[in-house]
Amino acid sequence: MRIVVPAGGIGGARFLRGLRAALGTGAPTTGEHSTESTVTVIGNTGDDITLFGLRICPDLDTVMYTLGGGIDEERGWGRADESFTVKEELAAYGMRPTWFGLGDRDTATHIVRAQMLAAGYPLSAVTEALCDRWKPGVRLIPMTDDQVETHVVVDEGEGPRAIHFQEWWIRHRAALPARQIVSVGAESSTPAPGVLKAIAEADAVILPPSNPVVSVGSVLGVPGIRDAMAAKTVVGVSPIIGGAPVRGMADACLAAIGVETDAGAVAEHLGADLLDGWLVDEADAGTEAAGIEVRSRPLYMSDPAATEALARAAVDLAVELSEAEG
Ligand code: GDP
Ligand code: CA
Repeated sequence: MRIVVPAGGIGGARFLRGLRAALGTGAPTTGEHSTESTVTVIGNTGDDITLFGLRICPDLDTVMYTLGGGIDEERGWGRADESFTVKEELAAYGMRPTWFGLGDRDTATHIVRAQMLAAGYPLSAVTEALCDRWKPGVRLIPMTDDQVETHVVVDEGEGPRAIHFQEWWIRHRAALPARQIVSVGAESSTPAPGVLKAIAEADAVILPPSNPVVSVGSVLGVPGIRDAMAAKTVVGVSPIIGGAPVRGMADACLAAIGVETDAGAVAEHLGADLLDGWLVDEADAGTEAAGIEVRSRPLYMSDPAATEALARAAVDLAVELSEAEG
């Protein structure tokens, strides 16, 4: 089976680990699918930010480190065995900002990326080169090679001001009410090489439990990606359980776009033109979304077995719905 997954950071990466296990990718699958399964991840780059001359891609790196075995499991982002000496030294020079968690090991990744970007390589080629080391077992492609950045319009002092998503999310813990969330540069961006081809060749698209506004929403905002996905069987996993995000502050993002923090409301926001199936947690059994097949399953990625079972449920629903479509 060929599966395409548009993914953000932590939630997306953990789901992908379960999906890789469920599909047995990397090893030939047995049974009905005789050919090896492949997973193509279309990574969100809307969170990317330039700091200290380095281009930082938090979601691409979270996916790469998580699937490559280099992630700090506890935090969910950044490198295992990390230290923060560079960050402290930068602060000692009075360098701003100080709120971004720039680890020493992680900095090496950003230096490699900065050097390759400066040499003229597109982000997609840089990501491929970085993945040569981590061997994530999936093909990881940024949604676009163009610069698209999520900015958040907040009220501050005199009036509205747009700040980078990372400043809102990390520095302000998403506590400043957001008037608007803007994907700057999205309109004129194009999908990175390989993105549309991977979608066209896919048997199914699976939306992981990633932030529906700033992760999945940003990927869908690159012109061409949403339409290409809508032509496929698409199954999503709700990141909202019992009316709240499982972790993080996705509720603040949903509020900014006027969508209720509710599994059914998120499905309807994503739209029946895109979604064929939607998995909600057992706590949300009975959820309905017009034109979308809703099923309830345990959706907490509490351990590898639970995550694999969740991924398998998403694949099974996609297979069932694509067979029903004929
Ligand atoms: P981020 O970059 O860290 O925001 O990671 P994502 O973009 O992948 O979004 C994380 C989303 O996944 C949040 O909205 C969480 O509520 C959701 N999430 C995290 N852990 C779980 C889980 O175990 N189960 C489900 N269903 N959702 C989860
Ligand atoms: Ca993210």
